[in-house]
Amino acid sequence: SAPVLTIDGPGGAGKGTISRLVAERLGWHLLDSGALYRLTALAAVKHEVPLDDEATLAEVARDLDVVFVAEEDATIVLLEGQDATTTIRTEQVGDAASRVAALPAVRQALLQRQRDFHQAPGLVADGRDMGTVVFTDAPLKIFLTASADERAHRRQRQLQEAGVDASLSSLLKEIQARDARDTQRSVAPLKPADDAITLDTTRLTIPEVVDRLTELLTE
Ligand code: C5P
Repeated sequence: SAPVLTIDGPGGAGKGTISRLVAERLGWHLLDSGALYRLTALAAVKHEVPLDDEATLAEVARDLDVVFVAEEDATIVLLEGQDATTTIRTEQVGDAASRVAALPAVRQALLQRQRDFHQAPGLVADGRDMGTVVFTDAPLKIFLTASADERAHRRQRQLQEAGVDASLSSLLKEIQARDARDTQRSVAPLKPADDAITLDTTRLTIPEVVDRLTELLTE
């Protein structure tokens, strides 16, 4: 069947950008699994479902009405027909996403939806558990990391481009809190798959990482 490249790692390591560029270069499909957790959180807030009501949140995840529209250099996300592209990127939604992502029934409810992205000619799957849970048979698994400091700087630059000012220290705190929740949860904790290749991007540019991954795929 079609090949899968899994790219897992902590937030801010560059997975989103790198995954999109690699998928573009290869002409493969792209799965932004974090977006599904963010959309579940956003839909829950919209429908006033408490973020600890596991059974109802799993229903929200299962029934998620979402459309991804691939555009020139971004993907437009429609939740229940409404543009949610920028809303799901806020720190607030990211934080809520990592809460609902800690619930086993929610993860289970999103499993098949994620696997449905696996189609010819290939898939780049971006997330936390792509290599450890969702696509365990993937022939190439990458664990992308960067120092927390570097990730806070990157997040700050990203926010600045969107016209949002945020202090480095508050971003660093948020990143560390999210890392702690993602690595310490009992289901699908963030960790490299046994057969993953870890790539530290702290001192690498985006094109360098994309080149390295493309090389690894052809090896
Ligand atoms: O990658 P992103 O920051 O968009 O993910 C938001 C949150 O969703 C993460 O902090 C993590 O808790 C959760 N997530 C997950 N498993 C994935 C992708 C994201 O638990 N495969």
